[in-house]
Amino acid sequence: MLSDKFGRRIDYLRLSVTDRCNLRCTYCMSEDMNFLPRQQILSLEEIYQVAAAFVELGIRKIRLTGGEPLIRRDILKLVEAVAKLPDLQELTMTTNGTMLPEMATSLKSAGVSRLNISIDSLQPQRFKQLTRVGELDQVIAGIEAAIDAGFKRVKLNAVILDGFNQDEVVDLAQYAISNGLDISFIEEMPLGDISSHQRQNTQISSQHIKDQLISRFNLLESTDKTGGPSRYMRVADSPSRIGFISPISDNFCASCNRVRLTAEGRLLLCLGNEHSVDLRAIIRAYPSDTAPLKAAIINAMQIKPERHHFDPQRTDIVRFMNMSGG
Ligand code: SAM
Ligand code: SF4
Repeated sequence: MLSDKFGRRIDYLRLSVTDRCNLRCTYCMSEDMNFLPRQQILSLEEIYQVAAAFVELGIRKIRLTGGEPLIRRDILKLVEAVAKLPDLQELTMTTNGTMLPEMATSLKSAGVSRLNISIDSLQPQRFKQLTRVGELDQVIAGIEAAIDAGFKRVKLNAVILDGFNQDEVVDLAQYAISNGLDISFIEEMPLGDISSHQRQNTQISSQHIKDQLISRFNLLESTDKTGGPSRYMRVADSPSRIGFISPISDNFCASCNRVRLTAEGRLLLCLGNEHSVDLRAIIRAYPSDTAPLKAAIINAMQIKPERHHFDPQRTDIVRFMNMSGG
């Protein structure tokens, strides 16, 4: 089993399969992004090799993410292979939903068991403003396709920015409840230097969001966990849960069970720090021997930092979120 020097057991891997995306969310990317040259990105075979090594070392949950994972060519082949890894308990994906109308059914058959779909606004104009290029209809159709494909416990993710979509918290929650979905509200993290807004001006705390919701819905305390950082409340008389991901206002690092692999094969030990190990160099140096890869993974746990120190006033981490995978 993997564990770090603070005694935290690591059983959850987030795999970014691409840094590219068909949207340009203002809080995630700058307008003119440079993406990695293709030869720097891990091949699907290399990603599989890393996933298999992690599962042999005790990882039980893998989330595929990006960038937008569904724009990676042949992603379904990777899903099929990873889903078959013995001992993996759950394979999930975070997506912006735009490709789900065509892909939801095949994703389900290939072995993805749960989906998180990001949607920050239910107003078409505003959705376009937040994503720079996105069409809301496409994402709504994607959510419906995921439900029709039989995905259980689809969860929506909404990053709430003061001055942009803080007035839609109740509408987003109502949309989730009406469709029997879960929803998590996420505090914006200062990752990457963006041009569209000053992050210190758009911060809004989970408590503030919760207060808005409590005035409209009957929310009940809950100890539900889905393996990630969301803290959940249940909605009375509904299957829906409302989660709060509060990296700024309520540090959750003490219970962190996660590591991330970036699209170029860097094992990132913490979203809010730069501690990392280049696994690509190892798999390319030893393509048919997994022992050095596994040794590097085990050793890497020792440099996992105790916690992040996000401060919306400062962008200490120049890495954008599409690099790390959400
Ligand atoms: N493209 C997919 C999507 O949007 O769901 C997967 C990758 S995206 C980086 C994963 C999640 O990170 C999304 O829910 C997105 O809203 C969130 N995210 C991106 N940048 C963020 C930031 N600076 N702070 C907080 N959440 C962020
Ligand atoms: Fe793309 Fe997801 Fe980043 Fe939006 S949040 S730009 S959809 S990677």
